[in-house]
Amino acid sequence: MTVDLRSDTVTKPTPGMLEAMFSAKVGDDVFGEDEAINELEQKAAAMFGMEAGLFCPSGTMTNQLAIKCFTQPLDELICDHTAHVYRYEGGGIAFNSAVSTRLLNGYRGIITPEMIEPEINAENIHYPHTSLVVLENTSNRGGGSCYTLDQIKAIAQLCKSKGLKFHLDGARIFNALAYTGDSAAEYGKYFDGISVCLSKGLGAPVGSVLLADAPTIKYARRVRKVLGGGMRQAGFLAAAGSYALDHHVERLKIDHAHAQILADQLNQCSWVSNVLPVETNIILFDTVEPAAAVSEKLAEHGIKAMPTDKHRIRFVLHLDVHPEQVEYMVKVLGAM
Ligand SMILES: *Cc1c(COP(=O)(O)O)cnc(C)c1O
Repeated sequence: MTVDLRSDTVTKPTPGMLEAMFSAKVGDDVFGEDEAINELEQKAAAMFGMEAGLFCPSGTMTNQLAIKCFTQPLDELICDHTAHVYRYEGGGIAFNSAVSTRLLNGYRGIITPEMIEPEINAENIHYPHTSLVVLENTSNRGGGSCYTLDQIKAIAQLCKSKGLKFHLDGARIFNALAYTGDSAAEYGKYFDGISVCLSKGLGAPVGSVLLADAPTIKYARRVRKVLGGGMRQAGFLAAAGSYALDHHVERLKIDHAHAQILADQLNQCSWVSNVLPVETNIILFDTVEPAAAVSEKLAEHGIKAMPTDKHRIRFVLHLDVHPEQVEYMVKVLGAM
């Protein structure tokens, strides 16, 4: 048996999703004529109480477009030091937007108004102009940790009072909502921009949607075109995204339950020194032996997992991990 826990991006389209893709009503999206894309953008925007959406090839692009829309060159944005926008988008903040980054030491990727406020620069010719705060929910490097709505409200309030824009990297926002029970529609009230990833736990092959007000999306569409992201009959991909929003949101709870089962098992393993608290579909755990050696051992049993540090391994649950595979893993982990 093989189990691929390297990432929730490894999922393949389900038969139902493939059917939806085959029957998509497409057209030239650069002319605004792709029905499947228009439907996805409107559906996602409505879910989050936002005015408009923009379908993009990746979450990197939706985040980078948001940063471009919400800043001017010589500005500074504030985010946690583990943030995807800073660590895993190739330095795009500086390259695309000519913006500098103020990093915070959050707790498992979660930052607070108390951390943010002292880092907002005063108006002074020496300082970059602080214009944007970026949150990541769930936090990837934080091990799938979530914000409460109260935490988000408090940061939104601070941003408003200081004239800052507020963007959410919601690559795994539906995992966060499944955990907290908050409604997506509430989120639109607090953020200026939201990135929603369709190809992580939701299981679509490609794509993310950027959500914001209509003028912001109009400008983001322009920048997407400049970057070569104006796709034509991409409705075949958007249809997979719509299908995922309709059919794969509820089931995220299953991934979370699977993660709990595996974390409970890991907590009983003598070769594991620490398991971080599990909230959603990501497990981070520390190993006594070097992580590279442990991941090789796991691979011998058909279990693919990624070391994220010298003594740390990450498991990510997703819709292509079935109960039989979780059962198998419990046995393998227990016997190692
Ligand atoms: C995966 C991910 C993204 C987007 O990544 P792409 O591979 O560009 O789609 C953004 N933020 C977080 C936290 C992610 O995990």
